[in-house]
Amino acid sequence: MSGSIKRFRPGAWSLWRQPRALVRFFLTIELAVAALTIFFAFSNDVTTRHWWQFGVLVGFALLQAEASRKIEKARRLITNAPHVNMTSVWVFAGVLLLPYSLAGLLVIIVYGHLWLRIQRKMGTRPIHRVVFSASMIMLCAYAAGGMYTAGMMLQRSHGWTASSTTPIIIALATLVFLVVNNILIATAATLHGRPSHILVSWPDLALEIATLCLGSLTALALDNIPYLIVLIMPPLLVLHRAVLVKQLEELAITDQKTGLLNATAWHEAAKNELSRATRQQSCFGVMMVDLDYFKRVNDTYGHLAGDEVLKAIARMLQQELRDYDSAGRFGGEEFAVLIPDSSPTDVVATAERLRERVTELEIAVPTETGETMINNLSASIGVAIYPSSGTTLEQLMLTADSAVYTAKSNGRNQVVTLST
Ligand code: GH3
Ligand code: MG
Ligand code: MG
Repeated sequence: MSGSIKRFRPGAWSLWRQPRALVRFFLTIELAVAALTIFFAFSNDVTTRHWWQFGVLVGFALLQAEASRKIEKARRLITNAPHVNMTSVWVFAGVLLLPYSLAGLLVIIVYGHLWLRIQRKMGTRPIHRVVFSASMIMLCAYAAGGMYTAGMMLQRSHGWTASSTTPIIIALATLVFLVVNNILIATAATLHGRPSHILVSWPDLALEIATLCLGSLTALALDNIPYLIVLIMPPLLVLHRAVLVKQLEELAITDQKTGLLNATAWHEAAKNELSRATRQQSCFGVMMVDLDYFKRVNDTYGHLAGDEVLKAIARMLQQELRDYDSAGRFGGEEFAVLIPDSSPTDVVATAERLRERVTELEIAVPTETGETMINNLSASIGVAIYPSSGTTLEQLMLTADSAVYTAKSNGRNQVVTLST
């Protein structure tokens, strides 16, 4: 895992190999942020109090980054995808306390340090992506700062009591930060052709909210009893470590190419369902899905294109199945699907629907001569149903496997259900 990541060195100018619309989006955001930053640098009044608060936030941000450098490195080795950055704690405190010019400078220092101390050495992220991430966070900071300033102005002009309205204004600033951040990430993901990344998962959203809450507490501490800021460090470091543990747990059960369960995790889910069905005397289904003539896809369009097809199949399975069904990849182009607590008719109907969806897929894949659409795919699906096809997991798997072979020899692109 780490070996393959270390070999991947994208280089600074890989920016120009990205889709054009994405490059235009990156540059628009970066130019807008640069223009705003220059404007703020000339128009913001910076007091001595601002400077010392800025100094404390920079100091603690760098201290935290150094203290958790190994954790952050491990997180980035596990995944190169955008992930929630714990530095938002300091950035958000800056949003609430500092003029925009210093809040922007804080982001530049924090991200510059992150790149110098972690990303540059790992070589997993080209510099243009670091610049974009920093610009994105600066834009979030300016938007949230705008919300906070507007709220405070209204509070003063209407004579609202600070103790009851300030928390609401901070909550609204948090919301603006989150919304702007997620819109920017979703836009970049869509332009990159990865719409499945648009929806932020609940755990990620919860983590983002937690970091922003800690940011608010940091600002309150620094503005009232500054030495209390040291109390932020222990929960922040523990939270960072807990996030790494969660990522490692996910890594242990996930197939890296498709994001589905790996074979071990799928077996574990199937074993649990078998014990439940035995206790409750209910039915469940097991499917083996094998793509037809997949070798031809590789031979015609190349392995990278083949990988894109596997990912598209995985996305389709995730969209078509219920939350409590489990889809796993058994290596190669074979997928296993567990349909808990369902009648034989429902299981077969689901298998039929999946088979049809495979034939409807149109997948844009990269080839040496540019992007090509792959369609006309099909799959042979073998179905086994507990208890009529077997009463142990081994029997069910063997039956589903034989059903796939029967489907193949009967001409492929079909669902076959076997009982013992
Ligand atoms: P059949 O209809 O009989 O299933 O034919 P098939 O070509 O799908 O099956 P076969 O078992 O002959 O070939 C499976 C191919 O899947 C061979 C291998 O190159 C390819 N493959 C296995 N794992 C991967 C992978 O991770 N990525 C890609 N791109 N190809 C893979
Ligand atoms: Mg196969
Ligand atoms: Mg096959």
